[in-house]
Amino acid sequence: MTKPALVVVDDSPTTLHQLEHDLQQKYGNRFRILEATSCQQAIDQLREMNVQNEPVAALLVDADMPEMQGSEFLQIARALYPKARRILLTTYEDSRAAIQAISSALIDYYIMKPWEPPEANLYPALDDLLADWLAFYETSQNQLRLVGHRWSPQMHEIGDFLARNRIPYQWLYVENSSEANQVLTQLGLSLRNLPVVICPDGSYLVKPSLVQLAEKIHLKTHAEQPFYDLIIIGSGPAGLAGGVYGASEGLHTLLIDQEAAGGQAGTSSRIENYLGFPVGLSGSDLACRAVIQAKRFGAEIITPQKATKVRLDGQYRCVELGDGTELRCHVLVLACGVSYRRLDVPGIGHLTGKGVYYGGSVTEAMTCIDEDVYIVGGANSAGQASIYFAKYARHVTMLVRADSLAKDMSRYLIDQIASTPNIEVKTSTHVIAAHGKQHLESITIFNDITQAEQTLPATSLFIYIGAEPHTEWLQGIVRVDEKGFILTGSDLIHEGRLPEDWALDREPFHLETNVPGVFAVGDVRHGSVKRVASSVGEGAMAVMFVHRYLDNIALRT
Ligand SMILES: Cc1cc2nc3c(=O)[nH]c(=O)nc-3n(C[C@H](O)[C@H](O)[C@H](O)COP(=O)(O)OP(=O)(O)OC[C@H]3O[C@@H](n4cnc5c(N)ncnc54)[C@H](O)[C@@H]3O)c2cc1C
Repeated sequence: MTKPALVVVDDSPTTLHQLEHDLQQKYGNRFRILEATSCQQAIDQLREMNVQNEPVAALLVDADMPEMQGSEFLQIARALYPKARRILLTTYEDSRAAIQAISSALIDYYIMKPWEPPEANLYPALDDLLADWLAFYETSQNQLRLVGHRWSPQMHEIGDFLARNRIPYQWLYVENSSEANQVLTQLGLSLRNLPVVICPDGSYLVKPSLVQLAEKIHLKTHAEQPFYDLIIIGSGPAGLAGGVYGASEGLHTLLIDQEAAGGQAGTSSRIENYLGFPVGLSGSDLACRAVIQAKRFGAEIITPQKATKVRLDGQYRCVELGDGTELRCHVLVLACGVSYRRLDVPGIGHLTGKGVYYGGSVTEAMTCIDEDVYIVGGANSAGQASIYFAKYARHVTMLVRADSLAKDMSRYLIDQIASTPNIEVKTSTHVIAAHGKQHLESITIFNDITQAEQTLPATSLFIYIGAEPHTEWLQGIVRVDEKGFILTGSDLIHEGRLPEDWALDREPFHLETNVPGVFAVGDVRHGSVKRVASSVGEGAMAVMFVHRYLDNIALRT
């Protein structure tokens, strides 16, 4: 099989030679290094390779080529090889332009010339980019096939679950795919058996539950032990950070998640404001890195498993799971985050999962190719989703209740939306009804300024409207505010008095709930910042208080 290519483009023969040499040294055994002295030569070569179906892993181009800018070349190359990593070679003086190109030309990285020694200035960045590409490439050679109806909520639930666990798959809709119908005939299955998941080895699952699917893709669904030092409910950024720090500091740690590791962040197509990732990274990439890190330190992660009840048994904290098992621990960290508020208008309920979706982007975007998509919401998650959908959909309309995006959205997203021609923003507008029998067919919207009502044909409506905490299952255990967010630390002190049920002679630690040894971190906590970085910070910080708590009760094992 042809080795994937690293394509290098520079008009200086000396630089080109040096780069070819350095790349050959480190990557020559796994990749072909192809050189071009002009962008046109490289484009011709890429077109030919594309016809031959030859893989390209990365493109490295000088930022300042004579016939076109390196960033322009990377945009053209992106149409041919969208997954290839795009890297600009730049000089110290040009680094500002390279930083701008991160947003405008969607480049993945820039490398400053000269890069000697390559061990410090070239290989670390390339290792990371190529590992990421290889993960995609190797798994895409082995993808699952998901056969079902276009408007089946189960299809979307399975697709979402696979996407969030970074398992590559292909949608095959029986409505428009001859392959879907062929596959069903080959397996002796009928439309009554849908959805069906077919694995690369030919085995298949009919109408699988998420637990069956998780087992098939080798996720751990049950805890190994009945007792842990630390149990964390939720493996979003806060829970994963708690897992990494807890396990790395010697605590026997278990994370439990009802969906998939990554939490809300895992559904984000591109997180651009997380420290240390100047070109941004997808939420699933961040989650995948954190999962590996937590496991490397010995944390156990079980998913999908829902925590349904907390019980206190003296100094032990007990967690009941959806499958009826009970696990015990010294310390419990609640990192259960939030999910989108429901849109309460006629027609939405029965169309949810059939054209109406809460959140979602990475999975559903692929199903909206050349369609018109409506996005409800005006904050960052709606903005990110619109930009992502615009890559696949014909037209994206944002329906924003406020009179401007500036009220709730970061400037960088507003700018990206303004420069994306197929996104339209309708402000002072909200959805008042959704219509359709088997699936969404149209929506009625209302403009607060003109008082005009309009019914528009629509097949895809994605809702991103504020958040509700996952705390209904904790009623009677931890104190929450009027919106259901968990009170911790000094927020529990009212008019100088601790809660009546607080039995210790110390005040609750920061992040500790009204139950000693039960902490709350991230979005689910009252007063939290609702950002990836702050959730990660709280998850990490909680572990320090966990140690203090354990020291206090002298229980360290
Ligand atoms: C689409 C989108 C884009 C975003 N983009 C950005 C961005 O660019 N930058 C940024 O800083 N922030 C962004 N955010 C916000 C950020 O993702 C959140 O602030 C962050 O994920 C909160 O982390 P968390 O761990 O507290 O909670 P969550 O991420 O909500 O994770 C909570 C986890 O707990 C699990 N859980 C809940 N209840 C239970 C239970 N009973 N049993 C088991 N598991 C349970 C859930 O399944 C979930 O996985 C975005 C959010 C969304 C939705």
